[in-house]
Amino acid sequence: MRASVRNAFLAGAILAAMTGKAEARPQWLIQVHGGAGVLERESMTPERDAETRAALREALEAGGAVLDDGGSALDAVEAAVRVLEDDPHFNAGKGAVFTADGRNELDASIMDGATRQAGAVAGVTRTRHPVTLARAVLEKSPHVLLMGEGADQFSAEAGVEQVDPSYFRTEERWRQLEKMRAREAAGEQAGVFDKEVKYGTVGAVAMDREGHLAAATSTGGLTGKSHGRVGDSPLIGAGTYADDRACAVSATGSGEFYIREGVAHEICARVRFLGEDAQAAADAVQAETRALGGDGGVIVIDKDGGAAFSFNTPGMYRGRLVAGAEAMVGIYGDE
Ligand code: ASP
Repeated sequence: MRASVRNAFLAGAILAAMTGKAEARPQWLIQVHGGAGVLERESMTPERDAETRAALREALEAGGAVLDDGGSALDAVEAAVRVLEDDPHFNAGKGAVFTADGRNELDASIMDGATRQAGAVAGVTRTRHPVTLARAVLEKSPHVLLMGEGADQFSAEAGVEQVDPSYFRTEERWRQLEKMRAREAAGEQAGVFDKEVKYGTVGAVAMDREGHLAAATSTGGLTGKSHGRVGDSPLIGAGTYADDRACAVSATGSGEFYIREGVAHEICARVRFLGEDAQAAADAVQAETRALGGDGGVIVIDKDGGAAFSFNTPGMYRGRLVAGAEAMVGIYGDE
């Protein structure tokens, strides 16, 4: 490639990284999120700020390495989400929040935009990487969504890594549940949608060198949720969607509202039928979800390589890595 052409491409990629606009479609790109919530500088210690940024970078690098090697967007989103599932700072895999009766019940999903094949699991209790179990559902079962005991059983049979349920427990998440129980006992309306309880769901969207899209999401759900409650994250069309004709979306937030709005599919429908780009479609659907009462955010990559973050909470853990540019990560609304 001539230097001037290469420079022009790099400039396009860097501009795309900064603005999210696809000036020239980058060779590949990936975005991750680690949940949206009341994330403000005053409430964050410098250590936590640095650790979560490092984890987001690590996830971007894991997915980016797959894409740089010519791997698929599907492999990239799985690789990125696995990193965040292992990190106790996030509400997915280790570090998942507790149900009202003190259990960890995990939800995850993954979708391939090239084939529109999808896999998802809800309420699983023994799988270290629920996103990999969702991938196994996509590849090894005729179904899209498995739940509860049947999903746990499928996980063991499919050879996905098993752990004792105690593996997911962290003291911080247990304290959050105890605090919620204490507030409820004192007659306060704490509620599962309490914005003070940081969410922390994780997700990734990617476009590979072939232009194929994929999305994945993984979560412990909401602190104090009812045993058996299923959120938007494992629901294809609500928390996760990918379609090469439109875009790839992973959502985080008060799941019941994201389900009612059909957020991920709605964003892709706007891109496909109205011709909106990732940012316009994400902002429009976020506004509609907000009008229902939902708080949270989405990460989106459209078919032209346009990339968007959109959230209506004070902050969202997020990151973007575009081929040929530096990774960017952010937490607060003003970054
Ligand atoms: N959307 C997730 C759920 O409702 C929670 C989150 O994203 O923080 O289960």
